[in-house]
Amino acid sequence: MTERLDVFMARANAAYYAARDPYADFTTAPEISQTFGEALGLWAAVAWQMMGAPDPVILAEAGPGRGTLMADALRAIARTAPAFHTALRLHLVETSPRLRALQAGCLPGAVWHHRIEQLPAGPLLLLANEFLDALPIRQFVRRAAGWTERHVLDGNFVELPAAAPDLGAAEGEVVEVSEAARAVATTLGARLAASGGAALFIDYGPECRAPGDSLQALRGRAPADPLRAEGEADLTTHVDFSALAEVARAAGAGAQGPVPQGIFLARLGLPQRAAALARGQPPARAAALMEAARRLTEPHAMGRLFKALALCHPALPALPGFSE
Ligand code: SAH
Repeated sequence: MTERLDVFMARANAAYYAARDPYADFTTAPEISQTFGEALGLWAAVAWQMMGAPDPVILAEAGPGRGTLMADALRAIARTAPAFHTALRLHLVETSPRLRALQAGCLPGAVWHHRIEQLPAGPLLLLANEFLDALPIRQFVRRAAGWTERHVLDGNFVELPAAAPDLGAAEGEVVEVSEAARAVATTLGARLAASGGAALFIDYGPECRAPGDSLQALRGRAPADPLRAEGEADLTTHVDFSALAEVARAAGAGAQGPVPQGIFLARLGLPQRAAALARGQPPARAAALMEAARRLTEPHAMGRLFKALALCHPALPALPGFSE
């Protein structure tokens, strides 16, 4: 049966995250270095102060994976911002029962939800690393005769005539639209404008929207055919940060960034924290700790392709990492 790409992708990723160990197929920043989650925890603590230190406050994570980022964040918060640690209520947005069980093992007291819309009302701080890239997209192709949309049929793309997306492209170019990611930014934008707070998204994609097919599948750390490994490979795409900032602003929120991850983490002091951890360790261990931090920040590794974007209450001044 012919299906739209976003329908196929939503089903494939739901099956994938429900059944497979994603960390057998790819690794992520919090799994590379504990300093990543620690830095994001301190980011949330400073943002909480800037919000006027509301008590209680919801600290949420979307797509927490194994729970590593939040466990590292909470440890850093408990040590450096005890009042925030007391005020926060931990909520996790996760669809996979398998990953929820792993998260429960290291994040006692958390409350789970399927969707960001289900988070309880009130001031919110939300963290999300590599969450948006897993959300389904539609792909449109600019043909000489007009626009088409890519559908999936028996493991292949077929193009069907489509209404023009609100985007420019040259003949033969593909443009991608994630209605799911836009819905997340709209929902969050409206609630952050109404009840206060900030949401920090870290993911990969270009600073400005650019045409191109970014759909990819990873299985066992190697590229796979995205249409032929349904549920067995992780499907991801580049995140369109400019679109998310735009829809969040239209919903009344502020948007800060995107800032390249390397610059963002350096501004949060991640290299210094890695050096502090390495001090006093045996040389091989110290070198591994420093190398992990460099992987997160160096431009040719994860420092440039990955970006940080914050959506927030429009009255909040520059959040940590978003100004020089
Ligand atoms: N943030 C983690 C995991 C990234 S993998 C890390 O950095 O290691 C993507 C995560 O998002 C997984 O936890 C996956 O189960 C979750 N996820 C994917 N699609 C989702 C959706 N539509 N709703 C909620 N969670 C989703």
